[in-house]
Amino acid sequence: MNAPEPPQHASWQRPVRCTQCDDVIWSRYRGEFRSCKCGAISVDQTPHYSRYVGNPADFLPLGDEGVQ
Ligand SMILES: [Zn+2]
Repeated sequence: MNAPEPPQHASWQRPVRCTQCDDVIWSRYRGEFRSCKCGAISVDQTPHYSRYVGNPADFLPLGDEGVQ
């Protein structure tokens, strides 16, 4: 089924923006491996751990949570 994007992210879902292509990605379900449009960054988020692939400088956290 094609569920729309959840209106509210779970605490483990942290949208991040790619500074290279401005794409915003997050795992829509546990452990989904997502890459941005340009492929510079990828995320693999679960309630237990989050894996971020790519140059840390290319990640821009969105929202109030997780922003330092
Ligand atoms: Zn990108």
